[in-house]
Amino acid sequence: MMEKLLLIPGPSPVHPRIIRSLSLPTVSHVGPEMAEELPRTLANLKQIVFCKRGEAFAVAGAGTLAMEMALLNTVDKGERVLVLSQGYFGNRMAEICATFGFDHDVIAGEPGAAVIPGRLEKETAGGKYAVVVSTHVDTQTGVCAPVREYGEILKGRGMTFIVDGVCATGGIEERMDDWGIDIVLTAAQKCFGAPPGLAILVLSETAVEKRRSMKSIPAYYSDLLRWLPIMKDPTRYFSTPCVNEIRALYESTAVVLEEGLEKRFIRHTRAARAIRAALRELGFGFFTREEFLADTLSVVNYFPGLDDKKFRSLLYENGVVVAGGLAEMAGRVFRMGHMGNLSAAQILFALDALEKTLRAMGIAFELGAGLRAAQAIIGE
Ligand code: PMP
Repeated sequence: MMEKLLLIPGPSPVHPRIIRSLSLPTVSHVGPEMAEELPRTLANLKQIVFCKRGEAFAVAGAGTLAMEMALLNTVDKGERVLVLSQGYFGNRMAEICATFGFDHDVIAGEPGAAVIPGRLEKETAGGKYAVVVSTHVDTQTGVCAPVREYGEILKGRGMTFIVDGVCATGGIEERMDDWGIDIVLTAAQKCFGAPPGLAILVLSETAVEKRRSMKSIPAYYSDLLRWLPIMKDPTRYFSTPCVNEIRALYESTAVVLEEGLEKRFIRHTRAARAIRAALRELGFGFFTREEFLADTLSVVNYFPGLDDKKFRSLLYENGVVVAGGLAEMAGRVFRMGHMGNLSAAQILFALDALEKTLRAMGIAFELGAGLRAAQAIIGE
């Protein structure tokens, strides 16, 4: 079977070097290999989100577990949460709050836009909230939120600021210490380019203190205080860590740091510009407003005459997998991920496949126009 290029907004393509690390032996979760490899993975994670002190966690699960863990470990009894929602995954944060009975309010950005920082300023001025949550990049709407500005507003207000970086961390800058972010949560399968299977969190010292100040939380596996001793000394036992997946995560963080964070962020920006220039050339527009476009995925509007299922299945035949619209956006858009360890050659292959697909569907455009537009940017 021909291998397909996976350009959904996560999982992203896994580099052979990371895949190979999955075939290392399964070692004891409390043995000497993990004693060395887990801490160095966590140290790399902290470096990637610019967190000098604080604690990192990698636990078997996915991004949604990391979302739950962030809330469960910081929202104390009687406290109120403010959810800044830029789409489906912001709303999921609110659903998790509702599930655990946490009092919360949601403020949403306009369609295709993030919550305006001025709104956050106003809402949090009265000291009503203990925890503020924002998705960095919402994978439904493609909206990239100004988390740096949010952080600046929240500094000194004594609130815990949680950022869902599932579609951003490791691909878009997130400076926890400098921007006043208390928790970055993410998962392995997006900008790290590792296979799915790990919930990842980095907590500032303040966030760890917050958890310590809470007497009990309605969680067992998700209790970060149960995991902390294992993260510091993996020879201790709480629940069996997925050792092979941790080995792959280590490799993926090593790839990130070897590339260099600044270079990696610039590469993501350039890839996004190249892909969007090509898509525009082919007649597409985007759901997301220009100033909120994310470097990690594009949410692309279909034009009349382009059927979602037909387009995506033909593109699949041509070697590329993209995602449809999520929830109420199904059928109106397709979503194309451009995150992780995507190479220039892969981008050009994808755009060529896209042009072939449009051609086969009878769409009129100048063949090669998209590719040329992308190449001009990639070659800068
Ligand atoms: N947050 C965001 C921004 C996401 O994109 C996703 C997954 N698409 C999640 C959370 C949930 O992650 P998972 O599917 O790994 O549970």
